[in-house]
Amino acid sequence: PVAGEVLLDVNKVRKQFGGLVAVNDISFTIRAGDIMGLIGPNGAGKSTTFNLVSGVLGLTSGQVNFRGRNVAGWSSRQIAQAGMSRTFQHVKMIPEMTVLENVALGGYLRTSSGTLKAMLRLDREEERRLFAEAEAQLQRIGMADKLHELAGNLALGPQRLMEIARALCTDPSLLLLDEPAAGLRLKEKQALADVLRQLKSEGLSILLVEHDMDFVMGLVDHITVMEFGTKLISGTPAQVQASPEVRAAYLGT
Ligand code: ADP
Ligand code: MG
Repeated sequence: PVAGEVLLDVNKVRKQFGGLVAVNDISFTIRAGDIMGLIGPNGAGKSTTFNLVSGVLGLTSGQVNFRGRNVAGWSSRQIAQAGMSRTFQHVKMIPEMTVLENVALGGYLRTSSGTLKAMLRLDREEERRLFAEAEAQLQRIGMADKLHELAGNLALGPQRLMEIARALCTDPSLLLLDEPAAGLRLKEKQALADVLRQLKSEGLSILLVEHDMDFVMGLVDHITVMEFGTKLISGTPAQVQASPEVRAAYLGT
């Protein structure tokens, strides 16, 4: 994608769970090269929005245009193959496997039919390619020294980076991160922010759900604030911080 081009256009996206409108006709856009932060109180509908955009949940109505195509109704695997890749709020890994194996396996599950049975039929060539890609992505984010450590022995910060490496294996143009800084120590947060800035400088766009305001404000180009399933405001970090509505509803000041 060309920098500045509209990469993701979320248009009046809605999700009802029975009588509850979890996401109420939300619209926002992300331009190529931007980092967008999605913030709001618990229950605001952030994770549901994320799941709608990434194909994990079906929409009640609305459109999700990614690189000019309406991907609403596509499976999460089809969406990943089109260039949108995500991490989950809780780290998903096999602790007894190495970092490299975890990333290679994740790359595999994203790109193919995703069954273990199919994986056992992988030919040597395909397996070599998956491991080479996993190693390249781990190197890219500064984890070359941890390839052969057991994933379960890593601290939370490196585990989150491992998940990002896994999401990068499908060569996405848009990365969706659900609360990547939650629970991290200050040093780990700084290391994560450095990696995200590096990815941005390499042309990646990022949509990030996050609670940690200091982390968000110092990193993103744009913020969308959600409350009760609707969009309260969107703008630059400075505009959002200056908004009286946001201060009242979210920052509590
Ligand atoms: P956030 O991520 O901003 O904390 P969520 O998107 O998780 O908010 O939730 C938004 C609302 O939708 C909440 O009221 C939540 O209880 C409800 N909700 C989320 N997922 C489901 C579901 N699978 N079934 C029923 N209600 C749900
Ligand atoms: Mg959530």
